Amino acid sequence: MVRAEGVRKSFGHVEVLKGIDLEVAPGEVVCVIGPSGSGKSTFLRCINHLEKIDAGRLWVDGHLVGYRERGGKLHELRDREVAAQRRDIGMVFQRFNLFPHMTALENVVEAPVGVKGVRREEARARGVELLERVGLGERVHNYPNQLSGGQQQRVAIARALAMEPKLMLFDEPTSALDPELVGEVLDVMRGLAESGMTMVVVTHEMGFAREVGDSLVFMDDGVVVEAGDPRRVLTDPQHPRTQAFLSKVL
Ligand code: ATP
Ligand code: MG
Repeated sequence: MVRAEGVRKSFGHVEVLKGIDLEVAPGEVVCVIGPSGSGKSTFLRCINHLEKIDAGRLWVDGHLVGYRERGGKLHELRDREVAAQRRDIGMVFQRFNLFPHMTALENVVEAPVGVKGVRREEARARGVELLERVGLGERVHNYPNQLSGGQQQRVAIARALAMEPKLMLFDEPTSALDPELVGEVLDVMRGLAESGMTMVVVTHEMGFAREVGDSLVFMDDGVVVEAGDPRRVLTDPQHPRTQAFLSKVL
């Protein structure tokens, strides 16, 4: 579903991604850990083409992200084509980014109606279903400021799912939450994983990575230092940098 080969990205003189190789099979959950500034968010943003990569290749669902290859040359896609690619990718951030003036349901319905042209009634019916699925059936008409952080984050997940993505990207979805609200969001993500969704999850939740992740990737300083079965990486890290990081966070 995702394939990265030698992905590089610089901001000015600073190279943030120094050749990332990664593969995510359909239905797989890949968790990404690593120190602050190691490039985790930047890599997620590249997958979604919110950042343009400087070198390497990145495919989502068999399509080169942001480019078309013809005769060995890369041609940039137009904005409309990029938008079409992005539609298949749901993203959930640390901050919930809900529209504050819209109810939970309106937040969920907005993109399917506005972007995909789904009929409003149909989108609302589906939106209610999605909110029920994330445990918010009673909250569909609440505004974000009437919801807890965990509830808002679950609305954000439902909103991403409303576009029927093939791939979900999560960037530290629980790190802005009070500790007692983390579990409810992780439970929703676990359910999503069990339903077969392909997911890339940047997280500090090692329990989630161990139990739900098919694979765990440790990034440091713009490279993938180590990757593999989460239990193996967490209990028997091979690389000294992984060992040093885990000894600090576990
Ligand atoms: P954290 O765990 O703190 O979220 P991260 O692994 O997600 O860290 P990134 O946000 O990808 O790290 O940032 C990697 C590096 O790139 C950092 O040094 C950051 O300052 C830099 N960076 C990220 N985005 C930009 C930008 N738009 N312009 C300039 N520098 C940037
Ligand atoms: Mg980050």
